[in-house]
Amino acid sequence: MRIYNTLTRNVELIKPNEEGKIAMYTCGPTVYHFAHIGNLRSYIMEDVLEKTLRYEGYDVKRVMNITDVGHLSSDADTGEDKMLKGAKREHKTVMEIAKFYTDAFFSDCAKLNIKTPDAVEPATNCIPEFINMIKVLLEKGYAYQAGENIYFDTSKLDNYYVFGNQNEDELMVGVRDDVTEDTNKRNKNDFVLWFTKSKFEDQALKWDSPWGVGYPGWHIECSCISMKHLGEYMDIHCGGIDNMFPHHTNEIAQSESYLGHKWCNYWFHVHHLNDESGKMSKSKGEFLTVSLLESKGYNPLVYRMFALQSHYRKPLTFSYDALDQVAATYKKLVNKINAIPEEGSVDEAEVKAWHDKFAETVGNDVNTAMGITLLYDALKADVNGATKRAIIGDYDYVLGLDLLKAASSAENEAGAEDPELVAYVESKIAERKEAKKAKDFAKADSIRAELLEKGIVIEDTREGVKWKRA
Ligand code: AMP
Ligand code: ZN
Repeated sequence: MRIYNTLTRNVELIKPNEEGKIAMYTCGPTVYHFAHIGNLRSYIMEDVLEKTLRYEGYDVKRVMNITDVGHLSSDADTGEDKMLKGAKREHKTVMEIAKFYTDAFFSDCAKLNIKTPDAVEPATNCIPEFINMIKVLLEKGYAYQAGENIYFDTSKLDNYYVFGNQNEDELMVGVRDDVTEDTNKRNKNDFVLWFTKSKFEDQALKWDSPWGVGYPGWHIECSCISMKHLGEYMDIHCGGIDNMFPHHTNEIAQSESYLGHKWCNYWFHVHHLNDESGKMSKSKGEFLTVSLLESKGYNPLVYRMFALQSHYRKPLTFSYDALDQVAATYKKLVNKINAIPEEGSVDEAEVKAWHDKFAETVGNDVNTAMGITLLYDALKADVNGATKRAIIGDYDYVLGLDLLKAASSAENEAGAEDPELVAYVESKIAERKEAKKAKDFAKADSIRAELLEKGIVIEDTREGVKWKRA
């Protein structure tokens, strides 16, 4: 597997620390609101990276944090506390907000076939670990106390800008209107490890620490949570491109100062999904969510396919027109798969040859668009139907588009489409709806019974009445 490593700015072959194993870490969501489909673009591409590694035979352990404390709305350790803002908006406690949006996040992930990482850890679970790391950083002289907060001293590092491409002038703290410079800082990029002097008087979550009651800075959680589950050495660290600075830069600064050695070898960054007006964000009011797409009638997997059709290292612009095109492509693809004849038995050697081709294609810096092209090639290949289906199932482990499942339900739909029967059932459903509206439940029940006698089962769902053959 080769990926573009932001640390070296080269596409590199991944050489794990331990043969056959990959220790992988993903920056998780800040759970003060729903994830937008931009956030989910990052998680889809990271899911593909993980699954491609597994597809190649690696034993992957992937860890994710849940940011449920201390993440401020500016990247500069100032601004508004996002969790608190969410709690105020919804008249709930911070922990209720965190629980609700953590569940919502994993429900969105499930709809997009994003596998849940092997370990998921909320930041609020690990306060003792954070305090311990901060203590060590103070002992080693990498941190200082000022204005009752603890700061990381970036001047102690030979090379703070590890990703190399930051422009110091652009990063000047205080340039944005809503960001006020913190005069406690010795250097402008120093960052808070622990707050005891909070500007939020009603800060909901606070813990005792050797420096007083307070709460952690944002960056410390990823260093501690990754080490808790993966140990001192990590192979791949992932996140959206906006995490590169200051979040990942600060993670590296504190982790390597704490450990005294290199921490993570490969950094994988997914570029942004933008809407037509520019950058997508949760704080801009109306934002695009999986539920919104569903309410407009889109299958979430169509969005996954939309993401897979472009490269993760290019910005991507979302539009409904583009999504409609992918919806049509998905439908055609499913119909093509549905039309594969049920014949022959699986030729394992063929499946293996196609498997290797796919591993090489997608394994070349997560080239998902080429992976989909290869899937179309497989559909045209000179192999029997059973083998074709086996190849599609094999590719779909990585693509995650539920292709065989969608094809088999398309088959069922097609089987039921006797126009006369459809017209009859629909007229009966309409009649039953009227009866229910008039509270004539006896009539409604008799219509249901009449349909059942003809072998049709009806079911009341949120999306309306559904029917199928018994
Ligand atoms: P957050 O919940 O804000 O911590 O973000 C969760 C993940 O989504 C992080 O990895 C971010 O880098 C990533 N992210 C944020 N905005 C976008 C976007 N517009 N497109 C792709 N990824 C994003
Ligand atoms: Zn992180």
